Amino acid sequence: MNYTVIGGGVGCARFVKGLREHVRRAGGQHRIDVVVNTADDWWVSGLRIAPDHDSLLYALAGVNDAERGWGRAGESERVAGELHVWGTAPDWFTLGDLDLGTHIARTAWLREGLSVSEVYRRLGARWDLGATLHPATDAEIDTHVLLAEGEPVHFQEWWVRHRAQLPATGFAQRGIERAAPCPGALDAIASADVILVAPSNPVVSVGPVLAVPGMRDALAVATAPVVGISGIISGAVVRGMADACLAAIGVETSAEAVARHYGARSGGGLLDGWLVDESDAAAVAAVRECGIVARAVPLWMRDADTSARLAGDALALAASLR
Ligand code: GDP
Ligand code: CA
Repeated sequence: MNYTVIGGGVGCARFVKGLREHVRRAGGQHRIDVVVNTADDWWVSGLRIAPDHDSLLYALAGVNDAERGWGRAGESERVAGELHVWGTAPDWFTLGDLDLGTHIARTAWLREGLSVSEVYRRLGARWDLGATLHPATDAEIDTHVLLAEGEPVHFQEWWVRHRAQLPATGFAQRGIERAAPCPGALDAIASADVILVAPSNPVVSVGPVLAVPGMRDALAVATAPVVGISGIISGAVVRGMADACLAAIGVETSAEAVARHYGARSGGGLLDGWLVDESDAAAVAAVRECGIVARAVPLWMRDADTSARLAGDALALAASLR
């Protein structure tokens, strides 16, 4: 079976690890592809940073800092101290030394003229990830945040420096109208038996993937059922600041509102199925009314067992839709 996951970042990484664990336990021939958000990416100190990709890479490789929630385990920050003194990196943005190694390698390959897809392939080849990562697009489409007051700022400045506290009115990916899905992502969507929308930030992780021209069309004609997993439980995010992003685009922080925001595939939207947490069982009927088959299951991914069980529940819902 071919499984294609759409998302980016830590919620996505946890889910893909669970899916990998589930298929290992189930046995048989399986393939996992991930279509990764690239709209968090930015340039700092002359280096291309790709936070969502790197969260997935490090987590699947088992070299991530699970306690802190980002970056590499066993990190030091000697180089970042120098970059702050030189003033090439803002003092609110610190990159670990091992992490900088990844960014230097990525930037070196980009400057040799390789595509982002090829850079993903090279970075992923170092470890046995059990999944293939594809950028949503090879184009550079950094997110800028439109503010209630003042000029737009880069997403990383809003997210890291201002902790998503500056009132925002929207998000824009510059140049996205000229972007195209990368061929590997399109292949993964077309050849999938099941497409899974990870419990990632719906606005700034899943949203920009869908906004790449041609991506929604590819999903609309895919033969596989599309099942999403809510990153919102009991009206709150599990971690992160997705609630600030949802508020900025006028969507309530609830599993039901996010399902409505994605929409039913039968009505031109994204989803055939939607998993909500047991505590949100009351939302199942309302989500069904908008044409999406919903089920309530435990959505907390605490460890390998709970994450694998969630992946199994998502695949069971998909099987019932095929
Ligand atoms: P980021 O780029 O690191 O912010 O990660 P994502 O784009 O993947 O989004 C984070 C989302 O993952 C948030 O909405 C969290 O609520 C969600 N999330 C994190 N851990 C869990 C979990 O254990 N279960 C569920 N259902 N969602 C989670
Ligand atoms: Ca992200």
